[in-house]
Amino acid sequence: MFAHQCALAGYGQIVSPMFEELAVFKRLGESTDVVTKEMFNFFDKKEKNPTEFALRPELTASVVRAYVQHRPAPPWKVWYEGPQFRYERPQAGRYRQFTQVGVEALGTDDPYVDVEVIALASQFYAALGLTQVRLLLNSLGDDSCRPAYMEALTSYLRSNAADLSEQSSATLEVNPLRVLDSKRPEDQAIVDAAPIMVDFLSEETSAHFDVVRSGLDALDVAYEISPRLVRGLDYYTRTTFEFAGDALEGSQNAVGGGGRYDGLAEALGGPATPGIGFALGVERILLACDAEGVFPAPETLVDVFVVDLTGGAEALTLTDSLRAGGLRADRAFGGRSMKAQMKLADRSGASIALLVGEDEVAAGTVTVRSLRTQRDQLSVSRSDVVTETKSLLEQLALLETLKMETRS
Ligand code: AMP
Repeated sequence: MFAHQCALAGYGQIVSPMFEELAVFKRLGESTDVVTKEMFNFFDKKEKNPTEFALRPELTASVVRAYVQHRPAPPWKVWYEGPQFRYERPQAGRYRQFTQVGVEALGTDDPYVDVEVIALASQFYAALGLTQVRLLLNSLGDDSCRPAYMEALTSYLRSNAADLSEQSSATLEVNPLRVLDSKRPEDQAIVDAAPIMVDFLSEETSAHFDVVRSGLDALDVAYEISPRLVRGLDYYTRTTFEFAGDALEGSQNAVGGGGRYDGLAEALGGPATPGIGFALGVERILLACDAEGVFPAPETLVDVFVVDLTGGAEALTLTDSLRAGGLRADRAFGGRSMKAQMKLADRSGASIALLVGEDEVAAGTVTVRSLRTQRDQLSVSRSDVVTETKSLLEQLALLETLKMETRS
């Protein structure tokens, strides 16, 4: 579904390597937790001057590295999916290996590309059926206005440093912006009263942000302005956003996020190239889907289970013809008793069991037994077994639908 939505918007897929030189990720910012604490890094086997690599903790840096290396014509719009690795303390919704899907659009700072990217993510959640995902939006300014804001923020935080938590006092000296991210109760009053970036935006960044907002309004994409949203990575400029899954537990409720990173390509040795993108956490999205109950109960793996009382050879050819006929069929292995095979049939979730013993082989028939309804078993000719099983499955599905309609 994600791939389809990206294709509709003109994004091509990019498959980047699982690991890169560590230096690529270091460009994400020396005060970023992902870089300082959460990297799985290792050296190659060169004896002299080995190179240090790291498993990818995210994909923006790899995509921008690929852009700088191959210089495709801008605007370059790509999407990706795959595992990421972070050395974090594992807990519910936070893993050391997790999956992200995302997009990056490089080569234009037109605010309408911000709108396109944000709307794409938002429409993906909606297409999954999620209704409790909130879009939080902020602008982090750029070089024209951020320094003045940083000065105001730093001096405000320094004057309140005595009341900040120990961790936030330390963060303040490395990256004052990240103090705004603090969820510690003792920091809240200070964070809440801190100066906010939107009050410092230059005319140009403010106009850019206005277009982003009116574009989202035009597409009916609901958002909340969240003036203290700074996000984890250091390289974000101007538009920044996050999606909060309200059905999830508070501390791990971010189901995705992204923003503009106009300085990253230059930091990676390329020409100054604006860019924007997002990454969505697949496991968290699935947790949100569970919490909101958007998917029906998991489907069964098979429709039919073959119970063979002749030793196993009949099940071999019977499952083969069922599968060739497009039915999902499984069987027991190891020459087990009828009772044991019926138990497996039941556990498989199949709706129908097909039984073959010596009598059936002699008569050229198969015994068909419905596993989920009280029906008399029937005997069908071996040559008709695929058609008969299909028709019985259709009847059972119809019965199930009727039952559900009566219930609701
Ligand atoms: P980030 O790259 O940190 O902006 O993360 C983007 C999204 O990836 C987050 O909103 C989460 O949904 C997801 N995510 C980040 N880190 C983890 C993790 N350790 N385990 C599971 N999901 C994660």
